[in-house]
Amino acid sequence: MKKCLVAILFFIAIFGSYLPYLPAKNLNSKSRVVIFVGHTGVGNNFGAKSSSGIYEIVYNDILAKKLASIKSDKFEYVLIDSSQKVKLKNRPDFAAKYKADLIIEIHHDSAQQIDIDVCNKEKGDKNGFCNKMSGASVFFCSKQEKGSVSEKVSLLIGKSLQKNGFRANLYHMKDIKGERRKIVSEENAVYDTCFYVLKNAKVPSVLIEAAVITNPQDEEKVKHTDYHDRFAKSVHEGIEAYFEFYIQQKENKN
Ligand SMILES: [Zn+2]
Repeated sequence: MKKCLVAILFFIAIFGSYLPYLPAKNLNSKSRVVIFVGHTGVGNNFGAKSSSGIYEIVYNDILAKKLASIKSDKFEYVLIDSSQKVKLKNRPDFAAKYKADLIIEIHHDSAQQIDIDVCNKEKGDKNGFCNKMSGASVFFCSKQEKGSVSEKVSLLIGKSLQKNGFRANLYHMKDIKGERRKIVSEENAVYDTCFYVLKNAKVPSVLIEAAVITNPQDEEKVKHTDYHDRFAKSVHEGIEAYFEFYIQQKENKN
């Protein structure tokens, strides 16, 4: 009996910090979308620093929370925010524990320092250089196990963002070191880039860069509630379109 108690205490000591993250027991039959906040909040991993000195992770948390608050009869969101400090390498397994059908990771974007410096020098340049580093973009990995499905979801989310007035950020196509990302839809700013979670997840996975916070004009927008609402609504509509498509496919097979 004593041994048993020791074993239980040992288990709690080792795995206790993970327990709150395990899925609820009464799982319903709805599909499940796990939302990860971009960056871990561990060490110095807070993401890009904005033009006003705020770390990306702060903005990521706001949008992720807003998206997770939307209700759907087709699926449910599970929010993994920055307070949970889940490392990137643990995210694919973490999502699997939650029985995720889809992973969404939310970030805010930056640019190469050389371009940020030029942009900062040209303050007041409203339509030129700085504006090329602006808007939203969506990423998936074609080399992932579910790469073709991830691409489908990415295109639907990108399309929905464009429909709701977000600008397509084509900066990552730029032929410079650190960029040269492969774009699959210029219209919807969808890129094929194998970031860690996108490549290693076992279910379809999409990473969204909501706005370029090193650009003062973009950062000004991300501080407002109407922007958060419009972003969350756009991403949600894209995900809904995917599940509708997915359900339709299933019905056609039966
Ligand atoms: Zn980021």
